[in-house]
Amino acid sequence: MSTHHPSENFRDAIATVDESGQRRWVYARQPSGRFYQWRTRLSYLLLLLLFGLPWVRLGGEPLFLFNVLERRFILFGLPFTPQDFHLFAILMITAMVFIVLFTVVFGRLFCGWVCPQTIFLEMVFRKIEYWTEGDANAQKRLAKAPWTAAKVRKKVQKHSLFLLVSALIGHTFLAYVIGTDAVLATVRQSPLDAPGGFLAIVLFTGVFYAVFAYLREQVCVAICPYGRLQGVLLDDDSTNVIYDYERGEPRGKIDRGRPKRTSCTSCADCRAGGGACGDRILDRIEASLPAPPPGDCVDCGLCVQVCPTGIDIRNGIQMECINCTACIDACDTVMDKIDRPRGLIRYDSERGVRERRRKLATPRVMAYSGVLLALIALNVVLFSQRTGVDVILLRAPGQLYHTPADGTVTNLYTYQIVNKTSRPLPVTFTVPAEVGADVRLIGGAPVAAPGEVSEGALFLVVAAGDRPYPDEIPLRVSYGDDTYVVTTSFLHPAN
Ligand code: SF4
Ligand code: SF4
Repeated sequence: MSTHHPSENFRDAIATVDESGQRRWVYARQPSGRFYQWRTRLSYLLLLLLFGLPWVRLGGEPLFLFNVLERRFILFGLPFTPQDFHLFAILMITAMVFIVLFTVVFGRLFCGWVCPQTIFLEMVFRKIEYWTEGDANAQKRLAKAPWTAAKVRKKVQKHSLFLLVSALIGHTFLAYVIGTDAVLATVRQSPLDAPGGFLAIVLFTGVFYAVFAYLREQVCVAICPYGRLQGVLLDDDSTNVIYDYERGEPRGKIDRGRPKRTSCTSCADCRAGGGACGDRILDRIEASLPAPPPGDCVDCGLCVQVCPTGIDIRNGIQMECINCTACIDACDTVMDKIDRPRGLIRYDSERGVRERRRKLATPRVMAYSGVLLALIALNVVLFSQRTGVDVILLRAPGQLYHTPADGTVTNLYTYQIVNKTSRPLPVTFTVPAEVGADVRLIGGAPVAAPGEVSEGALFLVVAAGDRPYPDEIPLRVSYGDDTYVVTTSFLHPAN
């Protein structure tokens, strides 16, 4: 990734750590502007989904469940068992390739708009902070102020709300793991009766509180593996929140005498003796501007003040930037005020800024797209072939065939039934009538427990003298409205 910045020294340290290695707390100004408004709206929708989804049921089962303790996973109402591990693995690989492709094209769009860490920190916890302690400057003043009753009240108010929201997130997080019924049962019980659930809730609440009250942007800057990947994923054609250094530099404080271009449509008629505006503004601009004309950046520092990771986007694309768009909004406000076009900081690629052209279909993007399409096709095939029940039929070890006294020929098999659904399934075994064979179960008809593997044994029986004996027998396994056919070899005396 190229950069315009003459010195790369700023990359030697992160903006949130000072020279002595101490944390530099970020007091981010509250952004305002069109992107912030859209992000706020989207965040409400995402929060609704996040808190609401664990309560949604499909056929009596949760829509999503990630019970790692009991190895029960439900995706979009579809239960997965350990036997589906290959499907899960291929799905995860597909998701990884999608993330890589998405990042190559759109940079960290996900981080700024969808990531739960950003949504909670910027749209919930920081808003609580603005509400209880005021905007960035008031927060700074409060931090330095002595411990008065007013300060204690504000801090208690803020941290109580932080804890409350963290507890809400902790309960919801647990609901994704063990389900809402189990969480409600835990909440209704005394901690002594359900110590495991109680401890899990306390632990999750504590972790979320620590993340949003103290760790904050350090999660994005130093912990999140996706953030660490940016260096290898982004290239000159990736879209990012970027400062247009071609337009912005050389930066400098605004020249108050500079004429505004509000009425100027660049028609240049004034040169020919007065245009529609009668302003002769082009002449006045040329007469008043120093040469070379200064860039559009007035060095107001607003883009830095609103940045939740404390960086200066004008240094170039940096790993700490979560593409939250706060600096775009801040800079657009400034551009409006000084009557310059918006977009000095905008979504663009390095090449877009440098060469004023965008390139989307790069060989890298095409290659990742090809791999992704192939993986999606593979998933479609595998999922369409997925059955609710898997049956494994094996000849009993060390057995050939039997010719019991009743004059039949029998083969002994063991079976395993994997019930991948979430309901108990009575299973029946039959052989098509035209084959001339019967099934004799050892023990009763099996009922496969949900998510379990049931085992048993059965005989396939052919009447003696019913020649020629079949070499293969199709065994129908029926459960619910579905039927599954397993063809097995049948050993017998010579025909
Ligand atoms: S907000 Fe815009 S004008 Fe102000 S310092 Fe940042 S880039 Fe320059
Ligand atoms: S540089 Fe801009 S987009 Fe990046 S994190 Fe800071 S404010 Fe957000």
